Amino acid sequence: MATILDGSDPHVIAVAATALRAGELVAFPTETVYGLGADALNEQAVAQVFAVKNRPFFDPLIVHVPDAATAALYAVAIPPRAAALMEHFWPGPLTVVLPKHPRIPDIVTAGLDSVALRVPSHPVALALLQAVARPIAAPSANPFGYISPTTAAHVQDLLGEAIPLIVDGGPCAVGVESTVCAFLDDDAVILRPGGVTSEAIEAVIGPVQFSASDRADLRSPGTLPRHYSPHVNLQLTALGDPLPLPLSGERVGVLLFTEQRLTQGYVEVVMLSRDGNLTEAAPRLFAALRWLDCLGLDRVLVESVPEHGLGRAIMDRLRRAAARD
Ligand code: AMP
Ligand code: MG
Repeated sequence: MATILDGSDPHVIAVAATALRAGELVAFPTETVYGLGADALNEQAVAQVFAVKNRPFFDPLIVHVPDAATAALYAVAIPPRAAALMEHFWPGPLTVVLPKHPRIPDIVTAGLDSVALRVPSHPVALALLQAVARPIAAPSANPFGYISPTTAAHVQDLLGEAIPLIVDGGPCAVGVESTVCAFLDDDAVILRPGGVTSEAIEAVIGPVQFSASDRADLRSPGTLPRHYSPHVNLQLTALGDPLPLPLSGERVGVLLFTEQRLTQGYVEVVMLSRDGNLTEAAPRLFAALRWLDCLGLDRVLVESVPEHGLGRAIMDRLRRAAARD
């Protein structure tokens, strides 16, 4: 079992920073999900992150820093539109992918010559990044492909046997991962929808492109078809369609974003919001998937949400969670 310590205690931040500088892994809270952190300049520590998560080495990690000035140390160029987003959305759930400085070891970026950088807004994450004074490579603190953790207890369940320390910062307020936006030439390309909406990004820098799975230099593993997945079979209903009824003897769960009158027969119904409020629903999404995953259900029916605002990130995660190999 990992030790869980309260991140609001400055001594805990000092202990965690010392552990990170010594090459140990530390799980810590961010506003999106809990991260599994390692000193990004320590190749052995970073290799441990891949090992503990069972994450393939072709899947690059996001590097977390305390501010934009520090981010600038690890990129060889910051195009003006990237700088505008960093200024506007940092600290916050936005990751920018920039041409990589050689200071960042190749293992962090899976050999790509770009690096993903983010300044998280969670006060515990920021305190830790300031104290450690190293860039911290941190993917979500879960086994590769499974649902991301949004509480310290989730991390304990998932990785407690494999890591020494979890810093507790309470439940994550955003609850879906950061938006990943790449700037490798003049284009801005959203590789993964996330906590900052594309509408908000476009309001700052104008039109952006979406994804680019055909471009090897922009491959983004959070975009694997099956990812963020529970074990139970998830079925997304079409937007606005009524939920199918369970077959006789079938154990079916339901995940809703709006209040619905359900007749009968479902084993468990989880309502993330009464009125489709996605800012309220998102922080509860992954915990709800975990809960539904542990009930031994035959399937879980999931209400779809409109794909704008946070709905893009939510539908992206739900589609990957529902995808089968
Ligand atoms: P996570 O495992 O949730 O931390 O996700 C990390 C995300 O950042 C994945 O979707 C990665 O594909 C993306 N990412 C990290 N580094 C890069 C990079 N250099 N180029 C493109 N995407 C990246
Ligand atoms: Mg992840």
